[in-house]
Amino acid sequence: MYDESHLSEVEEHVLDTDESDFDTLNTSVYASQSSDYENEDNFDPADDPLHYYTHLQTNDICMEFLKLLRDSQISKTQSERFLSFIKTLLPYPNKMPTSMEKLLTILNITNYFTKRIVCILCKKELNNKQLVCNTCTTAESKHTAHIYDTDFFILLSLVVSRLLVEINKYKEEILSTNINEEKCYDIPFGQIYQDLLKRLPNENMLSLLFHIDGVGLCKSSNLKMWLFSASIIELPPHFRTRRHNMPLVSIYIGHTEPDINLWLGSSFLALKLLKENGKYS
Ligand SMILES: [Zn+2]
Repeated sequence: MYDESHLSEVEEHVLDTDESDFDTLNTSVYASQSSDYENEDNFDPADDPLHYYTHLQTNDICMEFLKLLRDSQISKTQSERFLSFIKTLLPYPNKMPTSMEKLLTILNITNYFTKRIVCILCKKELNNKQLVCNTCTTAESKHTAHIYDTDFFILLSLVVSRLLVEINKYKEEILSTNINEEKCYDIPFGQIYQDLLKRLPNENMLSLLFHIDGVGLCKSSNLKMWLFSASIIELPPHFRTRRHNMPLVSIYIGHTEPDINLWLGSSFLALKLLKENGKYS
C-alpha cells in the first residue's frame, strides 16, 4: 500500500509518538507466509476464523484493529503490547497476530521502506533500536538520524502503470505542434525538452524531476522530516504535482539538516543505475 494517506499516516504517527520511538513507521518487508493455528510463525492471510469458537474472520478483525491503532496514534511498541494482551484473552489456539509485521502480512499490506539508523557525527550505521552511537563519546540522541529508503523502481512502476493512459495522451500532445498558449509554458513544450525529443525520436522517454522538502515534526524540538521524491514530467501538470503521483526515493528524520551523501549516496547510485539500464541491475 503506497498512497498519500500512507504518507500522512507516517507523518501523523511521528508527530504523535515519543521522538525516540520511530518504530511506528513499520519498515520491515512483509512476505506471504503459510498457515497454522498452532504455529504463529506460519500465518495464513486467508479468511479463516480467528479461533475455533467464532465466526469472526481473522482478516476482518485485523483490519478493524489496525484502524483502531491508527486512530489512536500509538507507537508500534505499544500496538504490539495490545496485540499480545488480546491474544492471551482469546481461546487457544487462535490466529491473533502478536507483531505489527504479522498483522500487516495478514492484511496483505506491502511495505516498500528499508530503515537505516545513522550517527551524524561518525556517519556510521547503528544497530536497529540503537538510539545513541556508542563509538562517539559526545553522541546524544539528537545526533541519531533515521532514514527510510524506498524501493523506488517499484514505486515508480506503480505510478506509471496506474497513469499510463494519461502519460500516453500527454505524450501525444507534447509531440503535436498544435498546442494552446497555456500548455506551452510546461516543461515538455520548452526548448530543452523539445530538442531532446528531436535528438532521440525513437525513445519512449520518461523524465524525472527531483524535489527535496523539509517538514517540521515537533513544536517542542527541531525534529524535522526531509522527503526526497520525484515527479514525472510526462504526466500532465495537474497529475504530476499530486503527492501520491510523486514516487518517494527516501525519507530522512533528524534534528539537523541532512548530510546529503550520508542520506542519499546509495539512492543516487540506484538512480544512476536506473537511468543507465532502465532498471537497477
Ligand atoms: Zn558516531
